[in-house]
Amino acid sequence: MSRSFDIAVAGAGVMGLACALEEARRGRRVGVFDPAGTGSKASSAAAGILVTRDAHAFASPFREFYVRSIRRYPEWLAGISAASGMEIPLHRGGDHLIFDLDDPAAVLRLEAKQRQLERERASDFTVTDTLPGILEGHCRIRKAKAFHFPGEAYVQNRVLLEALNQACLKAGVAFLAEAPSSPWEHGAGTTRLRFAAEEWDAGQVLIAAGAWSVRLLESLGLDAPMVSVKGQLIRIRKFHGSDAMIHLNDDLYLVPRGDSLVVGATTEPGIWDEEFNEKGEAHIGSRLDRLLPEVSREPLERWAGLRPRTRDRLPWMGWIDPERGWALCTGHYKCGISMAPLAAESMSRLLHGEKTAVDLSPFNPWRRQGLTRTKA
Ligand SMILES: Cc1cc2nc3c(=O)[nH]c(=O)nc-3n(C[C@H](O)[C@H](O)[C@H](O)COP(=O)(O)OP(=O)(O)OC[C@H]3O[C@@H](n4cnc5c(N)ncnc54)[C@H](O)[C@@H]3O)c2cc1C
Repeated sequence: MSRSFDIAVAGAGVMGLACALEEARRGRRVGVFDPAGTGSKASSAAAGILVTRDAHAFASPFREFYVRSIRRYPEWLAGISAASGMEIPLHRGGDHLIFDLDDPAAVLRLEAKQRQLERERASDFTVTDTLPGILEGHCRIRKAKAFHFPGEAYVQNRVLLEALNQACLKAGVAFLAEAPSSPWEHGAGTTRLRFAAEEWDAGQVLIAAGAWSVRLLESLGLDAPMVSVKGQLIRIRKFHGSDAMIHLNDDLYLVPRGDSLVVGATTEPGIWDEEFNEKGEAHIGSRLDRLLPEVSREPLERWAGLRPRTRDRLPWMGWIDPERGWALCTGHYKCGISMAPLAAESMSRLLHGEKTAVDLSPFNPWRRQGLTRTKA
């Protein structure tokens, strides 16, 4: 069987689905292929944290993109809800960011955070020397600096992925749970992708395959300096009645999910396995033992995901080859859920030759420390 698309998208995580939906809304014929099916990798593994720290001045294009993207969330979710018929919970429960002043490493992180808040002219927060009520009787920190950001939010990212999938289906996006079985062929303005039982001819191809993008790029003769960074998480029973997130020493987070809390996460560069293992157990367990010894660690769920991290830690969002219509949207590392609304809109504008709302040049895949050619 042969099918024609205006654009084929490699990857059905948050980036691929958000970009596919944007294109389908423009009336284009869109096909998405992903050998693991939809939303099964980092985008489902994530905690769903969307914190801006009330930034109003930006020292880097990355911070500006990230914060502007999070501010689009309510409107973006409303559009996906309308298109999918699904509610997507966005909780503006606020965030308690607490530092243990008896821990020298935490004090260094506190100082860095204070410099950031000053630099970014943040004002929507309070600071005290006492632990918030929700931690009373649970937390072992004796000398604390506790920030409260009332406007911070988190999204139920697994629901978001399902809603994006539904919205794409309703908008006519075609899905295939396979990767092409042979190298891409390009000719006469079209890329031919051969699968086991069908062929796709696509006017444009967007690679949005998260950590696996590096393998696709290699198959195109491109060296892509990106590593997979494993993150392990657990879910425990909720020990407080609040909607708020908690960040302890900027090193351990607890994010409400129903009557449970998502707790994480490890940062393990260069790892490709997606199993929860003893390293995750030791990392999360030791922090819970030290900071929240009274809280039950009995996991309701344990899992891991792979984050895509480029060498300079900036995402790659731009053309791989504009002549062939090949583009790239990956490398969002720990912030892909947060960056999806603006990334999808920006990529769509780029694909249509329009001016983007944000300058994408800092994220050009061909910048220094970006892609290089390995063969002609
Ligand atoms: C533990 C953890 C916690 C996180 N917490 C947060 C958070 O709180 N907030 C936040 O903003 N971000 C968070 N992130 C980061 C965020 O999850 C990622 O940046 C984001 O999900 C990346 O989305 P993606 O679509 O690029 O990748 P993925 O979701 O990994 O999707 C990539 C897809 O490509 C597919 N694929 C693989 N090979 C191929 C191929 N050959 N062809 C086609 N498709 C292919 C995969 O099967 C997969 O479905 C977290 C990540 C992890 C791991």
